[in-house]
This record gives sequence, structure tokens and C-alpha cells, in this order.
Amino acid sequence: MRKVDVLIVGGGPAGSTCAYELAKRGFKVLLIDIKRRIGTPVQCAEFVPLQLFNQFREFFTQEAIAQSVESMLHYTPWGQIVEMWSEGFVLNREVFDYNIALLAQEKGTEILLRTRFLGFEDGYAWLENIDTRAVFGVKANFVVGADGPRSKVAKLTGKVTENFLTTAQATMPLREKLKDLLIYFRDYIPGGYGWVFPKGSVANVGVGIDPEYPINVMESLKKFVEELINIGVVEGRVIKRTGGWIPADGLLPLVRGRVVLVGDAGGFCHPITGGGIANAVLSGSMAGKALANGDLQDFEEEAQDIFGNSLWRAAEKRKKHMKRWDNLEEIVPKTWIAFEEYWRII
Ligand SMILES: Cc1cc2nc3c(=O)[nH]c(=O)nc-3n(C[C@H](O)[C@H](O)[C@H](O)COP(=O)(O)OP(=O)(O)OC[C@H]3O[C@@H](n4cnc5c(N)ncnc54)[C@H](O)[C@@H]3O)c2cc1C
Repeated sequence: MRKVDVLIVGGGPAGSTCAYELAKRGFKVLLIDIKRRIGTPVQCAEFVPLQLFNQFREFFTQEAIAQSVESMLHYTPWGQIVEMWSEGFVLNREVFDYNIALLAQEKGTEILLRTRFLGFEDGYAWLENIDTRAVFGVKANFVVGADGPRSKVAKLTGKVTENFLTTAQATMPLREKLKDLLIYFRDYIPGGYGWVFPKGSVANVGVGIDPEYPINVMESLKKFVEELINIGVVEGRVIKRTGGWIPADGLLPLVRGRVVLVGDAGGFCHPITGGGIANAVLSGSMAGKALANGDLQDFEEEAQDIFGNSLWRAAEKRKKHMKRWDNLEEIVPKTWIAFEEYWRII
């Protein structure tokens, strides 16, 4: 039976960054993922802020960056356009995620693809090869749950994310190239927003909604796309489609015994904006260092200090103000980070 210091479940940015930090420090790391190739398929609009680039330059090869952006332009239903400086990059995430995993592998991480996490008990993790259905055990001192929004590992810590945003996205040709990210608040995108994130001549066009509203996310996307075609932002052709879940409860308890949660699995994604790549990388890095230092409690405290309050605040706003989607002129400024009112009240 394989013996490892740390088993990491999930090769997204959180899991691979954690693997990279541990392997760099000489730990024996096994990283598993159900995918055939790390990074593919992409379920993301792919924007990251400049700060992430400044902190983790080695993850950003030229091929990982689709384009740079300057601002976020917000189109409100009451006719106001609000600009927020938002320097960063729209990525090619299949390359970005792959890059991090490759760096982890170069430092000695063993990667098993098409491998599913089944459970962890008494220091033994049970895994399944998806192609052969063979189940096998691995002895691991620690398990890191980096298995995304619907984390199975999170069940081991006693609390899982219960509220999500649901999303749908189409990649479409742009009529004209953009230098900014576009955000739209609309009555037909309840409890969320629509986005146009440019990647050269195309853009990721998507909606994220609160699934408790009686509108199908595909219907919401269809209306959004129709509006964008009518106003001349995109051409009426879909290149590819994706979607997925966004955790909306804020941070979970992150450490229990020998189990640690990072990235979306731990609730590090922002419950309103849905931004989670940077926090996935940061939490993976922090957890990797804490595991290497043998001080997991440090990770829990540091994560709560750095992220806990702002994620909690957003989750509270979602519950308090976004379950009614009627008077957007009142609701949007309270619940979106570009408005001064967001920071004044909970
Ligand atoms: C439509 C959409 C648009 C988004 N746009 C943005 C954006 O523009 N900017 C941004 O910052 N964030 C965005 N996000 C959020 C962002 O994608 C996530 O926060 C980020 O991917 C979290 O990284 P992670 O490593 O925690 O998890 P993931 O990237 O989800 O990786 C989890 C990995 O675990 C694997 N896995 C799952 N279960 C198992 C199992 N049982 N066994 C083995 N492996 C398993 C999966 O295959 C996957 O590779 C978006 C999300 C969606 C759905």
C-alpha cells in the first residue's frame, strides 16, 4: 500500500498550489483528480486580480494569460454606469491550472488522474480508479480537501456548504474587442449578475443566479445573450458552453483532526461576486505551509483572520438583501462591492 505524508483531493488551483508548497519542502504528496487532464474542462469566467500575478508569478506563463483588463464597468437597470478599477487578467484556465500542477509534479508530487476520493478513516484513504472501478487504499498522515464546491472531503469536517449560486456561461465572439470587464444587473438575473469577460476576440458571457428563484439559469442566460446581441456587444454564435456551482455560505470549519479544507471546498469563494481563483491559490498556499510547519491551527486562525469576515459579510448580505429581487436600485448598491453603500452596511 502507498504511504504518503499528504493526500490532496482535487487538482484545481487550491489543491495544486498546496501540493507545490509541500513538495517544495520535501514532503511526499499524492494529488488525485477525477479529470483526464488537469484544468480541462474549464468551468469559469477566468478573471483574476493583478495581486495574484504579483504574488505567484511562476503560475502565469504567457499562454496562461488570454488578455489583461483595466476596469469593471457595471451596467445598472436604472441607467447608471459605475466604473471600478479592477486591474488583472482573464486567463486561459486550462493552461493556468495545468501549470500549477506541473510545477507541483516537478517538485516531486505524484499525480493520479481518473481517480476518485471515496473516504478517509483511521489514517487510510479509499480511492477508486474511475476507468477500471478498482478501489485501493492509501495510508496518509493528512488529507487536504481541494475538491471544489461540492466537496466530498468537507463531509469529514462535520459541516458542508448548503447554499450555492448556479451559473451558465457561453463563450461568444465579440463585435469589438474590450479592455474592461462588463457586469450587468438585471431583473431576469435574480440574486446575481451577468458578466462579459473578454479574451481577445471572444468573451465569456454568463449569468449566476440564486437557484431559489423560479427561473431556470439557462433561460436567464438566453435573455442575457439576446440583450447583448441587441445592443451589439457580441455576435450570435456560441463557441462553447459551461456552468457550475459557486459556494455561497462563506468559510466552513477548515480543520478537523487530519483533514483540511482549501479553496471552494472550504468556502473560500466570494458568496456574491463568485470570485474564487485567487482565494483558492492563497488558501492552498497557506495550508501547504501550515502542514509543512506542523501547525494546522495556525492555518484555521490565519484564514479566518484574512478571509472570514469579508466572506461572512457577503454571505449575510446575500441572505438579508438578495432573497427579494424587486427594487434593484435599492438592493444592488447594498450588495455589490463597487458601491460605497456595500461597505457601510451589512
Ligand atoms: C461559471 C463560473 C465562473 C467563474 N468565474 C470566476 C472568475 O472569473 N474568477 C474567479 O476568481 N472565480 C471564478 N469562479 C470560481 C472559481 O472557478 C473557483 O472558485 C475555483 O475554481 C476554485 O478552485 P478550487 O481549486 O478550490 O476548486 P476547483 O477548481 O473546482 O477544483 C476542484 C477539483 O477537484 C476535483 N474533484 C472533485 N471531486 C473529486 C473527487 N471526489 N475525487 C477526486 N477529485 C475530485 C475536480 O475534478 C476539480 O479538478 C467561477 C465559477 C464558475 C462556476
